[in-house]
Amino acid sequence: MANWSVFKFGGNSLKDMDSLKKAIELVSDFANDPLLIVVSAMGKTTNSLESYLEAKIIGDMILAKSILENVINFHFQLSKSMGLLDQTLKLGLEGEWSRIQRVSSDLSYDKQYDAIVSAGEIVSSIILHAAIQTRHPHCSWLDSRRIISTNSNHRRAEIDLKTTEHNVQNDLKNQRGIWITQGFIGRSMETQEYTTLGREGSDYSAAIFAYALKAVELTIWKDVPGLMSGDPKVFENVKLLEEVPYEEAIELAFFGASVIHPKTIQPLKSRDIILHVRSFLKNESKATKIANFKELKPIVPCLIKKSNQVMLSIRTKDLSFLSEGQLSGIYNIFSDIGLVVNLAQHGAVSAIFSVSNDCRVLPLVLLKLKEYKVEIENNLVLYTVRYSDDISSKWLRLKGKPKMEQRSFNIDQVLLSE
Ligand code: ASP
Ligand code: MG
Repeated sequence: MANWSVFKFGGNSLKDMDSLKKAIELVSDFANDPLLIVVSAMGKTTNSLESYLEAKIIGDMILAKSILENVINFHFQLSKSMGLLDQTLKLGLEGEWSRIQRVSSDLSYDKQYDAIVSAGEIVSSIILHAAIQTRHPHCSWLDSRRIISTNSNHRRAEIDLKTTEHNVQNDLKNQRGIWITQGFIGRSMETQEYTTLGREGSDYSAAIFAYALKAVELTIWKDVPGLMSGDPKVFENVKLLEEVPYEEAIELAFFGASVIHPKTIQPLKSRDIILHVRSFLKNESKATKIANFKELKPIVPCLIKKSNQVMLSIRTKDLSFLSEGQLSGIYNIFSDIGLVVNLAQHGAVSAIFSVSNDCRVLPLVLLKLKEYKVEIENNLVLYTVRYSDDISSKWLRLKGKPKMEQRSFNIDQVLLSE
């Protein structure tokens, strides 16, 4: 097997003419041969397709039509301004738009979601393929729905690693050159329907491709210089993390550092594949390298803000003790329905949780918790500091009166009103 490299371009690195041009340049300047490029939907297309589906579900067809027209227009104009809109590209784009308009409203919400929202990645890959072909005429397009095999858990499908690896080897083992495919999407092995892997899931797809190709490295091109010690849009004086051990990257992503999807690291770690997170904007020499390092460099407090939190206070109705069995029952309900817990504490008769506010999931969880008394507080924000020190700890508590707080080892967490 040749020494593959994998690139991943996110929505922001494919959002307009300048970024597309930059992507073409980066592929020419940095690419090894063979190279697989995994793309997200362009700009905010995923959000728009979600809004299109919402409008369709509530029966506001005028709104749905206008949202979809905007999406179609955006891709059309971008392709046109890049001088890419030949007959092949036109047919490819039109095929996708008409496919999603034929998705039946009789399907469940989650199935409609996957059938419709997947179009964002498909059209993005078709356009990028046309763009890269202007410099590399022999580059190829790969349909990841044929490769990424998943279960039928729509909207958060799980990948069957064995089958997927087999598919990748089958298609790419003896290949060279540049290949372009989609992140975020796959296909159910059971029903052959399209699936998606959860929002921001295309980093994870890229990691799975890198794993299956036994790639040397994966580079995620971003609109930030790399993994920072905090989101520069939220925190001041943040620093670039130059060397990050795999475990540390998993922790940072778990606590909500949104630069990489939490599931991305594990497949890379298991095959010692180096992950570079770099800026596509400037040719900066500094970037983040995630690999088998012993410790973080530099060691600085890493600040993470997770908004849109809800605090659930759960207690027994008769004030009886909350047993381990009951706690595990509560966790089972969370995990079966897909509620993400970010902070938890429990006492004798009650347990409190900071959970991500997902309006589709939360009502289902509350229904299942009928045997308990449950109180809810909305509009909260969870701050997590890894490598906290006295200064960061003081700073955190100046932000407001904590609803929940927890400090252990070098991790400091505080839940506050938004
Ligand atoms: N386009 C999808 C999203 O916006 C997947 C991704 O960008 O990773 O969530
Ligand atoms: Mg994205």
